Amino acid sequence: MKILVSSCLLGENTRYDAESSNIALNPKFKFSEKELFMDIMCENEIYSICPEISGGLGVPRAKAEIISHEKPIKVIDENKEDITINFLLGAKKALDICLENGIKVALFKSKSPSCGNIEVYDGTFSKKLIKEKGLSARLLEENGIKVFNEYELKELNKFIKNI
Ligand code: SF4
Repeated sequence: MKILVSSCLLGENTRYDAESSNIALNPKFKFSEKELFMDIMCENEIYSICPEISGGLGVPRAKAEIISHEKPIKVIDENKEDITINFLLGAKKALDICLENGIKVALFKSKSPSCGNIEVYDGTFSKKLIKEKGLSARLLEENGIKVFNEYELKELNKFIKNI
């Protein structure tokens, strides 16, 4: 199965702080979880994207949070720069990859203002999480593409096997 995966989960240093969120090397994950991640990565056709880089942002970059989830959507960075257009562009590029390649499922990094599928920071830069989606995760789900995060590997695996 084809899966779109956040580049940082695959070990690319695409995060705002120029680090990765590599599941395989992250001590927070048990060996069995890393093994499942590697099995999923090796047994499927993986497409990688960092929507923020695809949207024109660099590495490193200032932290960003969504301050309006409804239209007009607004994303700012911690220097108060409006970077909404970069996030919208990155989301569109993620969707285009899915549509062009028939991708029906994504494994995206949790809590990211682009990739988060369940919760994101609340827009006050005070580390408070709210039940909202990142802009890329939201656009994918609005178009029928199922998004899982790195703590939902078992659910992702079940989804892949049952499709
Ligand atoms: Fe990772 Fe997504 Fe953030 Fe890029 S935008 S660094 S892929 S969480």
